[in-house]
Amino acid sequence: MSRTRPLLIAGAALAIGGLLWAERRRPLRERTLPQWPRLATNLLLGASCALVIRAVETPLVGRIAATNEAKTRGIMHLLPRRLRFAGGLLAMDYAYYWWHVATHKVPFLWRFHRVHHLDRDLDSSTAIRFHALDMLVSLPFRLVQTRLVGVDPATHRAWQDFFFASVLFHHSNLRLPHGWDRALSHLLTTPKMHGIHHSAVLSEQDSNWTSGFSLWDRLHGTFRDDVPQGAITIGLDDARSLDDLDPVDLVRAPFRPLPQR
Ligand SMILES: [Zn+2]
Repeated sequence: MSRTRPLLIAGAALAIGGLLWAERRRPLRERTLPQWPRLATNLLLGASCALVIRAVETPLVGRIAATNEAKTRGIMHLLPRRLRFAGGLLAMDYAYYWWHVATHKVPFLWRFHRVHHLDRDLDSSTAIRFHALDMLVSLPFRLVQTRLVGVDPATHRAWQDFFFASVLFHHSNLRLPHGWDRALSHLLTTPKMHGIHHSAVLSEQDSNWTSGFSLWDRLHGTFRDDVPQGAITIGLDDARSLDDLDPVDLVRAPFRPLPQR
């Protein structure tokens, strides 16, 4: 671990604490569920994901990134040296745009991603609410993404930090000062953008797929900012969405017949 890493972790802890505090002071959408049971569910799911990531993904991805550096292989290494870092980040982010589309459109992947969308409120705790097996299901994508882009360990770490910060931020229920959300949405994914993606209305859900730079949605015509946050029902309206609420139901959910949408 580098000497700056503990500082980064302390900074991240402060930022997360600040975000949790701010989204309660300046909520963007009204809550529909009691806060604490839902928070406990999301923390439980998030902790189980963290275990899988640490045990399986981190060592495998780390090995691929180290080999990328040693063999100077992958898309990133086709670029001039000074463009490699930015190019690597952009390519990782673009790959993730398509992966997110796939998690909605491929029924097997949707079984798992559905657990994330079943949350009927949206705040920064939703950012860690995934089925633990989703981490294994998405592992082949993450390995291929890392190998094809060719990120070295430092670029990969920067990508992970950026990705995690972005995911926490755009899931948050934070009402930014007037005009900020729209201005930021020219570059990044904002809470309003991602709120539309978490709408129970399918045509609204099929938008704002990006997890980092908003460029990809603007490029593919999937960017939306035309739905007022007060008009959004967060969650899903499929046949079982109101039953799959507690942690046990959520863990079982991917193994039941997929409800029609
Ligand atoms: Zn989604």
